[in-house]
Amino acid sequence: MNALPPAPPPLSLALGRCTLVGAGPGDPELLTLKAARAIARATLLLVDDLVSDEIVALAAPGARVIHVGKRGGCRSTAQSFIEKLMIQAVREGEQVVRLKGGDPFIFGRGGEELEHLRAAGIEVEVINGITAGLAAATALGVPLTHRDRAHGVVFVTGHAKPGGNSPDWRALAQTCHAARLTLVIYMGVQMAAQIQAELLAGLPACTPVALVQHATLAQQRHALCELQHLHSTLEREGLGSPAVIVVGEVLQGLLALAEAAPHSAADVAADLAADAPARLSRAA
Ligand code: SAH
Repeated sequence: MNALPPAPPPLSLALGRCTLVGAGPGDPELLTLKAARAIARATLLLVDDLVSDEIVALAAPGARVIHVGKRGGCRSTAQSFIEKLMIQAVREGEQVVRLKGGDPFIFGRGGEELEHLRAAGIEVEVINGITAGLAAATALGVPLTHRDRAHGVVFVTGHAKPGGNSPDWRALAQTCHAARLTLVIYMGVQMAAQIQAELLAGLPACTPVALVQHATLAQQRHALCELQHLHSTLEREGLGSPAVIVVGEVLQGLLALAEAAPHSAADVAADLAADAPARLSRAA
């Protein structure tokens, strides 16, 4: 019987490579050095929405840049198409960077892409980015954990996969209350009324909430309120996507300040965020 022919080398040895890169929440200064280097050596960049132009501008002059999000009112590119494109490009020897807002592994579908690329025999490097929920709280000068007020933090999406189950808001509210956890909700704006109603089943009506839109960018806006007023505050302030909703006692001091002296609380938060716009305008 003939011996079997030697196995072909793994594709990733001979050919290009793929890196999933977190671009952070928006402010280009919050990009990691490792991410900046990966972007600079890429020959092909596949860029999601919510990635700042200043960050894409770090690409080498000859690199191809493809925007695969919903920019310009177009429909976003199908996930399966993006994955096929990445696999083909790596096999053709390209240095592919998949650039995602925030962190690729926090609601960025980075896990799905990783699985598909690995199944195709392609090794993938993942570079973390600062996730929007963390950046949004910090932009208001608020820690997500605090020894006296929050023993941990839960990141949750308000927006289930089409046809998938929504989070169990009541169970989350009860757990966050009992275990003293901060709740950070991504993609929750459209479902805010329902989220509010269900969270009130497990959290006190007066639980502090912050709504932060465009965190770390020049156009950052925020509002503070009690959980019972979450939806009406969103509507009144005209806050929309992209925004995160932070719920928990870590916001108590800032909310008290806002209620006592609305202007000074806004000033405190604006001062804390002041650096980001300044840096952005210098870079422009
Ligand atoms: N991977 C990203 C999240 C992608 S899901 C991360 O780690 O941050 C997209 C959601 O993230 C948005 O709907 C919004 O809820 C949140 N988001 C992203 N950028 C944001 C920003 N600059 N300010 C507020 N929310 C943001």
